[in-house]
Amino acid sequence: MKNVNSSYKILDPDNCAMCGMCLNNCPTYEITKNESESPRGRISIIHGLNDEMLEPSESALKHLNSCTLCMACESICPAKVNFYDLMTNARNKYFNNQTLIFKIKTILISSFLKNTFLKNIASTIIKLLNKEFLSSINKKMFRFMNYIQTHEKNYIEIIPKIKSNNKIGIFTGCATDLFQKNVANSCVRILEKNKINFEIIKNVKCCGSIDFNSGRLKNGIKFNKSIVKEFKKEKYKKVIGYASGCSAFINKHNKDSNYQDATSYIINLLENTKKENFKITRKNVCIHAPCTTNSANIDFQKLIYILKKIPGINILTFKDKYCCGAGAQNLIHNKENSREILKPKIEYLKSNDIDYLLTYNIGCSLNFIDSLNLNNKKDIKVIHPISFINERLV
Ligand code: SF4
Ligand code: SF4
Repeated sequence: MKNVNSSYKILDPDNCAMCGMCLNNCPTYEITKNESESPRGRISIIHGLNDEMLEPSESALKHLNSCTLCMACESICPAKVNFYDLMTNARNKYFNNQTLIFKIKTILISSFLKNTFLKNIASTIIKLLNKEFLSSINKKMFRFMNYIQTHEKNYIEIIPKIKSNNKIGIFTGCATDLFQKNVANSCVRILEKNKINFEIIKNVKCCGSIDFNSGRLKNGIKFNKSIVKEFKKEKYKKVIGYASGCSAFINKHNKDSNYQDATSYIINLLENTKKENFKITRKNVCIHAPCTTNSANIDFQKLIYILKKIPGINILTFKDKYCCGAGAQNLIHNKENSREILKPKIEYLKSNDIDYLLTYNIGCSLNFIDSLNLNNKKDIKVIHPISFINERLV
């Protein structure tokens, strides 16, 4: 195979045996039944582009953009095709060939989420627009309000009583810092109850996954290096972050870091907590396992085990095997796809009279909120498991 530009790492798509075993695991193939929207089809497109048999046109690149990077294909592939590297390298190589609107959206979202000042302004606007009397009008006028369920509170400014170098650093992430501030507060409450010294890390911005997964590899690596450098400071015994997408990315790119996903850390911490320490909660709760669960090292069964200690709770999990459809900025570039992929899960929530949907990935959370709002099911509360557990601890 001919390498078109040697400055890019090009993996060999020829490793794909074209067996098709991955097809029925792919969420975009499931909703379209279109070969170009399948892992095998995407590998053929990358092959065609790298071998100059295909032009990097909008119609070719749209099939690469619609991949949610859920990695369901990679996990089942008998030929062990490294689909993640193949896809992110292709997105990087052909980023300049993307449409202007794609590039603008990608760069704007990434810049906005890393800018604390702009996020504080957005946070204030959201708070005002989300007032009861304005919210229904605003949902129509401002489409982004469809992603808001309840406005998150600011961080609790707690100065840890013990000053030591043996702290747990809490990494708030970039999108979670805007939409899920409360989860940081919940982590703080749980750590305090367990007399664990902690600090919310404020001078880091983003794990780098937003840039990396949308084809801006250099930017992604730059941000990743900078946060890991901060995490490795002597004062942090460990750093925890509560967005599983960030955790998966940090784990993948830093094998020897002192980082652990916060859900994973907290369920280990609470493993021996007795039933009496939880409040009675007679609710139907559905737990979602985001596609980043394994790579974030979250023990989903252990999470269920902890939640089952809550007296009165009824726990359900989804029956379909597909990702929610939000990954790799699909929520921004292919929102209709994300909604379509999510439909069976929304029907499941509706038909099982669910009160709470628990998910630990911010993209999934926003995707669920959007579809539940569209389906007039605002009564189903979407919440991070750490916040749900914290609210139920005596
Ligand atoms: S990563 Fe997910 S969406 Fe992308 S091709 Fe593989 S299975 Fe399909
Ligand atoms: S399962 Fe692997 S080898 Fe088979 S078509 Fe999919 S990517 Fe190719």
